[in-house]
Formats: sequence, structure tokens, C-alpha cells
Amino acid sequence: MSVTEPAARAPLASEERLLSGWGRSAPSRSRLLRVRAVEDVAHFLSYEAHAARGVIARGAARNYGDAAQNEGGDVLDMTGLDRILSIDAERGLVRAQAGATVAQLMARLAPHRLTLPVVPGTRHVTIAGAIASDIHGKNHHRDGGMARHVRSLALCTPAGGLEEVTPESDPELFYATLGGMGLTGVVVEATIAAEPLAAPWVAADVDRTDGLAETLELMAAEERHRYSVAWLDLLAGGASMGRAVISQADPLPADAVVTLRRRGRRAATGDDPTTLTRGTVIDVPRGFPGNVLRPGAVRAFNAIRWRAHPRRERGRPIALAPYFFPLDALGGWNRLYGPAGLLQYQFVIPTGQEGELERCFELIRRRRLPVYLAVFKRFGPAFGGPLSFPIAGWTLAIDLPAATPGLGEALDELDELVVGAGGRVYLSKDVRLRRDVLAAMYPQLERFRTQRARVDPEGLLRSDLGRRVGLCGELW
Ligand SMILES: Cc1cc2nc3c(=O)[nH]c(=O)nc-3n(C[C@H](O)[C@H](O)[C@H](O)COP(=O)(O)OP(=O)(O)OC[C@H]3O[C@@H](n4cnc5c(N)ncnc54)[C@H](O)[C@@H]3O)c2cc1C
Repeated sequence: MSVTEPAARAPLASEERLLSGWGRSAPSRSRLLRVRAVEDVAHFLSYEAHAARGVIARGAARNYGDAAQNEGGDVLDMTGLDRILSIDAERGLVRAQAGATVAQLMARLAPHRLTLPVVPGTRHVTIAGAIASDIHGKNHHRDGGMARHVRSLALCTPAGGLEEVTPESDPELFYATLGGMGLTGVVVEATIAAEPLAAPWVAADVDRTDGLAETLELMAAEERHRYSVAWLDLLAGGASMGRAVISQADPLPADAVVTLRRRGRRAATGDDPTTLTRGTVIDVPRGFPGNVLRPGAVRAFNAIRWRAHPRRERGRPIALAPYFFPLDALGGWNRLYGPAGLLQYQFVIPTGQEGELERCFELIRRRRLPVYLAVFKRFGPAFGGPLSFPIAGWTLAIDLPAATPGLGEALDELDELVVGAGGRVYLSKDVRLRRDVLAAMYPQLERFRTQRARVDPEGLLRSDLGRRVGLCGELW
């Protein structure tokens, strides 16, 4: 990967655009530049980007907040760099360009009987976006997050140009980049350790609980399963508060799939790698008014959803795509929240602080926040970078209409509880955190700042998120 001389390169195609994350709640105007080749990035950072505007990389814009936008500045659209460069089936390694998506990678790995070891709740994220957020999946308690599985990065920084960075060659920069929200450089390629895929199915155990105590007890029980996630009803009253549908699953062994096939359970539910890249089943129309998610309606939806599940079910075969990415079936579901958009608040509370976790749930209920989607998981030990979100404990992600009255104060109050318990919020979902609160939540911030000072001394890499929470330095 060599950098072409400045005079030889045509300028990147660009347009002024109003950009936002998946939540659509904090749009800002930037110049969006479309990257077509690896050399474009190095060239742009060396010769064209100037400190006054600043620049940030953007993937598929599935972060919920303002992480991949840069008001008044430049944004590099990396989705054009989407080639899968090599698959080494023997060593279980895949090398891909930054803009290749989880869906593309899973579909290309499946014929080699391989898959990605960590995937988020949507397959439409890019691999570099997943790295910049150090994403976690339903298996964090067993397998950790993305940082455990990335072997090498081609990273372009303002000070160093294009370099291959590994955990061995430059651990501080490597791990600052895993979770670094694009502020330590632009990832142009990555090598990731894939894992064996016996079959594109999982076998899921489902339990429906009647209240929070039972939910916590079941989730806290020794983790036998590879994947574990719960949907919580935080709006049910009295003893029913925190009732849940808990789904715990393991990969289905290949011999079990043969039996399934004999019984006629096949491609309709996705026993086919191409279904990983298939489009949505239905789409929410543009301009959707978004008035279905009022508190009363949400309470009713939640009750119906809870009742729709069996009390106890064992070993139900589910194809990978609907199991890992159920929301992908409904295209543009963020539009359900109307023009004001939605906000996702995801926090983690350390193991041992379950009392504080209950106080958080109580607060959500007392403040009458209309939570339809409340996803609850367990995290295993922290690993990796100073800005990596997961720490051993409990994590809850709640989706909320951004126009909810009193939302700001309610979340400020939640922040206080989370900090008090030694927890933190996830930057990839954030759109409102204050600087002082960030510093209290991420005690290793100085380690991150040291790397930024080294690779970006003039503070060229900048985003709305970075400015808001103070990750870009005092000048910006
Ligand atoms: C429905 C849904 C479910 C989700 N479920 C989960 C989940 O289960 N677990 C989880 O951890 N997350 C989850 N997420 C969040 C999502 O995985 C992250 O926000 C991820 O970073 C999005 O990737 P992206 O390609 O869309 O990146 P963007 O949203 O475009 O950008 C995210 C960050 O990555 C940086 N970035 C993008 N490309 C590059 C690059 N080439 N070099 C350097 N930095 C770059 C950006 O600057 C930004 O800081 C979910 C999101 C949605 C919408």
C-alpha cells in the first residue's frame, strides 16, 4: 500500500450533507467525501485535510448518536472500500477493507464453514465501525468483544501515515483504536480471527419470567450457554416490573441440522448463507408520523409481546440471521420514532452492584419513560482499550423517543446512578453525555489522550461526539 504523489490524485467526490446516526436525533452539516481507494485516505490526511475543518471516518452510520459526523468539517465515507481481500480457511483469518459489512463477511465466510466470533444486533455495520466501537454481541460473557478477535489493522493516522498495527507491534495504539470512536486514525483494512461454523442455526432455550427478581436469578445462574440475552418489560407495574423473555442459545451441531432437514425445516428460515445479505422483509415508510410509541401504547405492546412467548421452551432451532439480527427484518425501523428521532441509552453496572441496577430500573419506571425495546445482557471481564465499553456486569439498552418530555433530566439522573455504581454508558449509542460524566465513567481516559497526542498532535481527527465529550482536546 503505497501513497501516490499529491499531484497525481483527483480530488475526492464530495457533497455538503446533513448527517446523523441511526437515532436521527442530532443531525449536523458536514462535507461528505467518498473514499474510493486506500490511497485516498493517506492522501487526504497528509495533503488536503487542514486543522480548521477536521475530519472523521464514517461507516454505515449505525451508531445511534453523533460519532460519525463533524459539524462544519469533513467526513470520510468509507463504505466504498468494501472488498474482502482474503480468507485463510486453515488459519481462520479474514482480511477485509474498512467498509465491508458484517453481512458481507458472514456470507463470504459461510461456504468455508467459518463465521465472525462477535456480531452486533444488526448485520449492516461495517467492520471498521465495529472496531471503532469495540462492539459486543450476545456472547460477551463467554467470548469478549471485538477487541479479542482483531489480529491486525491497517491504520492511517495524521502523524504516522499508513501503518500496520497489531497488539504486538503497538499495543497502546491498537487498543486505543478498539473503542476509540475513529479518533485515533482511519482504519482502512483489518484482519480478524474467524471461528468454525458447524451450521447456520442455533438451538435456543426460552424462559418467560414474571418479575425482576426471577429475571436476575435466571440470568445470574452459571452461564452454560454461548449466547444469552433478555428482553425486559420495564413498564409492567408492581411485582411484574422487570418481567422478561430470556433467550439463551448455542450453535446447533451439524448432525442436528441433518435431522432438521429430514423433517423439512429448511431455507425458509435462513439455512442458506445468501439470506445473510438478503434485504428487509418490510420497510417503514419515509415521513412516518411516529405517534405509535406513546407511553400507553408502549405498555400495551410490551404486555402483548411478553404474553406471545411460551413460559418455557427448550432447543428451538433458529436460523442465524433471525436469531442475531431480528430487527433487520423491518427496514428503517428508526423512522417509527417520527421526525424527532430516538435515543438509545445503554449502560453497564458492575457485577455485585445488583441493588444499584434495580434502582436504575425503578428510576426508568418512576420517570414513566416509554421503553419498548429494553435489551439486557451480561458482560464478561473487560478487555482491551481505555474507551472500550464492556466491563464485567449487567448491561441494559433502552430505546426512547427523543421528544419524550423530561428525558434529559431523567437520563442525567440515570447517569448519576450509573457513575455511583462504577458503571458507564456506551459511546456508540450516546448523544447527550457531559464531559465531566465521561471522565468519571472512563477512568483510563488519559491513556487514550496520550495516544491521540502521539498520532494526531494537531487534533485533525474530530467528531461531534468527540467535541461534546471532550475527546478532541481543549482547542476543539
Ligand atoms: C439495530 C442496531 C443494533 C445494534 N446492536 C449492537 C450490539 O448488539 N452491540 C454493539 O456493540 N453495538 C450495537 N450497535 C451499534 C453498532 O454496532 C455500532 O455503532 C457500530 O460502530 C456501527 O458501525 P458503522 O459501520 O455503522 O459505523 P458508524 O456508525 O458510521 O461509525 C461508528 C464509529 O466508527 C467510526 N468509524 C467508522 N468507520 C471507521 C474507519 N474506517 N476508521 C476509523 N473509525 C471508523 C466512526 O468515526 C464512529 O466513531 C447496534 C446498532 C444498531 C442500529
